[in-house]
Amino acid sequence: MFTAECDLCPTLRAVRRELEVRGVVPIVSTEKGKGLCAGKAKSWEMDDRSAKEWRSAITSCEACPLLTQCRAETDSAVARGDGPRRMIAAGNAYDNLGALVDQDRLELYEALTRASRARSTSRVAA
Ligand code: SF4
Repeated sequence: MFTAECDLCPTLRAVRRELEVRGVVPIVSTEKGKGLCAGKAKSWEMDDRSAKEWRSAITSCEACPLLTQCRAETDSAVARGDGPRRMIAAGNAYDNLGALVDQDRLELYEALTRASRARSTSRVAA
């Protein structure tokens, strides 16, 4: 049902979200007071996604109204040892050990992790 707060039908919102995930349209905020990633966590995960999609999430973080706060919280989490893993957070990419991935080398990191995952998958199948 449409209300003053909801001017898009659910189907249109789902289509928009899918286009955002695919990087076809920019990611926009749908919830007031929340980050651009709210409700779209899949777009900030690194598994099964390309460096191009990671860059799209990073670009969205850079436009996020909560970036400063998010960066402080992420830095605190990293300092405690429970920071993000294999995801984009606060405009940075974090590997599976929680270390920063050099943004100039995202494509190289993608190629290396894809190759190592392919090797481990083939070992399990053998
Ligand atoms: S800056 Fe933080 S809250 Fe904003 S989109 Fe990025 S991860 Fe989400």
